[in-house]
Amino acid sequence: MDSTPSSPDGPDRPNTAADAGLIAAFDGVRARLAAACTAAGRPADAARLLAVSKTVDATRLRRAFEACGQRAFGENYVQEALGKMDRLADLALEWHFIGPLQSNKTRDVAERFAWVHSVERPKIAERLSAQRPAGMAPLQVCIQVNVSGEASKSGCAPAELPALARAVAQLPNLRLRGLMSLPEPTPDVARQHADHARLRGLLDALRADGLPELDTLSMGMSADMEAALAEGATIVRVGTALFGARVA
Ligand SMILES: *Cc1c(COP(=O)(O)O)cnc(C)c1O
Repeated sequence: MDSTPSSPDGPDRPNTAADAGLIAAFDGVRARLAAACTAAGRPADAARLLAVSKTVDATRLRRAFEACGQRAFGENYVQEALGKMDRLADLALEWHFIGPLQSNKTRDVAERFAWVHSVERPKIAERLSAQRPAGMAPLQVCIQVNVSGEASKSGCAPAELPALARAVAQLPNLRLRGLMSLPEPTPDVARQHADHARLRGLLDALRADGLPELDTLSMGMSADMEAALAEGATIVRVGTALFGARVA
């Protein structure tokens, strides 16, 4: 007897072969996460897994939720994310915006997302706060910091961080949670550690200087999550290791 409910996503039904691959990938990444936390002397569940789902279609995200129990998804492009949110509106998902954010997209982000990791300018933060609908929980915010210097164009410069953090922390409809980084990719593990340690140092400095409530370090991706977790990451953002290489 087939008691599988028909999927709102249409003809793409739960597919057990595809599920097996997805389940293995989630199990593998969760095991890496727990092992890296434990190796660093942290509780195995000290960090959350954010599944980065850019270019991954809604049907696979539904399977990630239903077969793997994944609730938190990270998206880089507002338009792409809105379409998936509409198709998955029946699921209790938590959406994180992690991509570059332009002024003309802040309203959609303020209205539809739970978190934004990529705030790097006061003007964007002010718009997000002004546009966050009354009655929704405050938008959870990380400031993206450029920890690799010249090599990266996005993120606020470390020297500008204290003033930006103080400004964001005062906005009524945002809750500043911490910092995010997207370091220049490198196979050099020592450099991975150095970049992630720099972000942790910046968070520690903010905490010591009037913002003790900050509790989030969003750092580490498929290739460098171990280094990030060793340096204190509380959210790792993982795409490729869960969903495979992205075409495009
Ligand atoms: C794509 C992306 C990730 C995930 O990278 P993977 O190497 O695929 O794990 C994480 N963070 C941001 C900001 C991204 O754009």
